[in-house]
Amino acid sequence: MNIDEAVPKLQFWNSLDEHECLGRNTMGLCPMKNLLLDARADGRAAGAFNVGSMEMLMGVVAAAERTNTPIVLQIAEKRLGHSPLYLMGPMMVQAARNAKVDMAVQFDHGVSVGLIRQAVELGFTSIMFDGSGLPVRENVRRTAELAAWLADKGVNLEAEIGVLGGNEGGSERRAVYTDPEEAALMAEKSGCDALAVAIGNAHGHYKGKPKLNFAVLEEIRARTDVPLVLHGGSGIPAEDFTTAIRMGVSKINIATVNFDATAIGAREYLRRQEEPDYFGMNEAIVDSVRKATIEHIKIFSNEGDVSL
Ligand SMILES: [Zn+2]
Repeated sequence: MNIDEAVPKLQFWNSLDEHECLGRNTMGLCPMKNLLLDARADGRAAGAFNVGSMEMLMGVVAAAERTNTPIVLQIAEKRLGHSPLYLMGPMMVQAARNAKVDMAVQFDHGVSVGLIRQAVELGFTSIMFDGSGLPVRENVRRTAELAAWLADKGVNLEAEIGVLGGNEGGSERRAVYTDPEEAALMAEKSGCDALAVAIGNAHGHYKGKPKLNFAVLEEIRARTDVPLVLHGGSGIPAEDFTTAIRMGVSKINIATVNFDATAIGAREYLRRQEEPDYFGMNEAIVDSVRKATIEHIKIFSNEGDVSL
C-alpha cells in the first residue's frame, strides 16, 4: 500500500479548520497604517517593538495582550546576522495572526531589495525603507518607487528623512535634523504611509540626556499630515514622549530597552540559579521584556507613570 492510499490527504486536510489550528478564530495581523491612524485619532502613539528572538517576541506579545493595546512588531535588517529573517519572520507573522489584539509586522531599516522582497513574501504588513544615507532626491525617488510596488501588494511603507544619530548596529552616525521642507517633499512625492524624522533622537544608548528639538517637530507637522515616527525611543524621558505624541508623533520605536531587558532578565536569573535551566531562563527573559514593554505601552497610551 502506498502512502496516498493509506492517507486520503486532501479530505483529511480539508476537514481541519485553519483558524482552529492557530488557536483562535480572528486574525490579529493588520496593516501598520491603520494602527497609526487609530492611535492618532485617540491622541496616543502606537508602540513599535523590535525583537530578535522567540523570547523577546513572546514578551512583547504578552505585553500588548495584557494591556489590550495594538502594537507593531519589528525586526531590523542590521540584526539579521543574529536573528535570521527566514526564522524570525514566520514567527513574527504567526504571532500577530494569533494575537488577541491587532498587530502590524514591519521590516525595519530595510535597504536591501532582496530582503525587502523576502519580508513581503513572508507576510509582513509594512516595510521601513531607510534611504537616509542617500541624497534627498534619490531617497524620495527610491522611496516612491518602493511605495508603489508595495501598495500593489497591500503592504505599507515607512520612509525616513534626515539622519538619526547613534548606532544602528554598525558605526556611529552624526545626527542631522530633518529639514521640514524635505519632510513635506518626501510625504507628498513618495506616497509613504509614515515618516521617520530626526529631531535629536538617536539609536542605541544615549550619551547623556536626550534632547529633542520640538521646534523642528512643530515645523514638520505644520508642513505635512503624514503620521510621524520617532525612532530611538529607548532612554527618552516619559514627559518628552508625551509632548512628542501631542505634537503629532504616531509611532514610537523601542529596540534597545528590550534587548537590554533580555540580557538583564537572563543575567539576573542565572545569578539566582546555579544549575543550568533553560526553561527558567526563558521565562525570566519573557517576563523581563513583557514588563519593559508594558511600561512603554502605558506611556504611549497616556496612562503611564512618568517616572520612567
Ligand atoms: Zn530606527
